[in-house]
Amino acid sequence: MADNSYAIEVKQASKAGYFTPAEARSYYGKYSRDGVTYHWWNSPNAIGGSAKDHDSIVNYLNGRAAQGQAPTVNYVASEPKLTFCIAPENVAWTSSAGNPTTVGVECSPHFTEAFYKKLGWLHDQLEQRFNKTLKIYVHFEWQPGTACSPIVKSKIRSYADWWKKQRQAPPAPAPKPTPPPASNTVTLKIADIKNKKVKIVRNTSLWDLGFKTYATAKAVKPLAAGTIVEVSATAKHPLGSTYYLSEYSYSRGVGNGINVKDCVDYVDPVAPPKDTSVVQPPKDAPINEAPVITPTPTPVPIPVTTVEKNVVIAFLEGIIVSIRAFIDKLKG
Ligand SMILES: [Zn+2]
Repeated sequence: MADNSYAIEVKQASKAGYFTPAEARSYYGKYSRDGVTYHWWNSPNAIGGSAKDHDSIVNYLNGRAAQGQAPTVNYVASEPKLTFCIAPENVAWTSSAGNPTTVGVECSPHFTEAFYKKLGWLHDQLEQRFNKTLKIYVHFEWQPGTACSPIVKSKIRSYADWWKKQRQAPPAPAPKPTPPPASNTVTLKIADIKNKKVKIVRNTSLWDLGFKTYATAKAVKPLAAGTIVEVSATAKHPLGSTYYLSEYSYSRGVGNGINVKDCVDYVDPVAPPKDTSVVQPPKDAPINEAPVITPTPTPVPIPVTTVEKNVVIAFLEGIIVSIRAFIDKLKG
C-alpha cells in the first residue's frame, strides 16, 4: 500500500482468531478475496464516534480473537482512526458466509462524508493489494437481519474510484508561464561570466540598456579606444545586441553596458620570466657597503717544549745556590 493518505494503526489480533488461506480452504472448502464486507457496529445512539470509541471496538474484537471466538475482523474503521487487526489475506470471522471470500471491515456507525472518503481510500488500497476490483458488500447480504444495511455502498465505490483516478492521473502539467505584463521596462537576458578584462577597440559609449530602439539609445558616458574595463556579465538586449556589463554595473544592478562588438578580450602583458640562475641583489640594496666584520681573535696555543728533567733540576739548584749566597752576604 504505497499511498499513505491515512495513517493505519496496527493492533494485530491473536492467531487464535482467524484462518490462514490454507485453513480457510480446509474449513470452508473455498478461499478467495473477491470483495470487502462492511459492517455497522452497534448503533449511533449506543456508541460514539471518537477515537476512544474506536479503540473500544478494536479491544472488544481483538479480545474475542484472543479467546478464539467470533467476531474478529481485518480492519476497524471510523472517521478518526483506521486499525489493522488481521492481514486482509487471512480470513477473519465477521461476515458469516462471506468470510472465505471477503475482507471484513467493522465501521463506526457515525457515517460522515469524510468517513466515506476514507473507506473509499481503504477499498482502493485493497484493490491495489489484490490487483482486482473488489465487490462491496454489507453484512446484511450475507446474513439477513443484521444491522449493516444503512451503509451506502455506492459512496464507498465512488470514493474508491476517485482515489484510483488520483493515483492514475498523469502529473499535472506545469502551469504555462504567464507572459510578463507589458511595461516600459526592457527585459535583458543577463548571463554571469567569469570576470575578465576587455579593451575598447574604438571610441564608443557606455549605454543605458533601457532603450527600446537603437535610435533612442542613451549614452551614459564616452569610452575612448584603448580603455580597459573589467566585465563580469553579458546582457542580451531584446533588439538583438549583446553588451558587457562592467563589474561595477553588474554588482550594483545598473543596466549600463558596452557593446561586445566594441571590445576585444584583454590580457595584462606578462613580464618576461626572470633568470633565476643568478641571484640578483635587490635593486635598492647598498652594494659594497656590507658591514665590516671584525674577527674575534683566536687564542694562539703556547707550544709546550719538552725540557730535560735534569736540566730543570740543575737550573733550580743554581737558583738555590744564588739565593744562599745572597743570604750569606746579608748575614755577613
Ligand atoms: Zn456485521
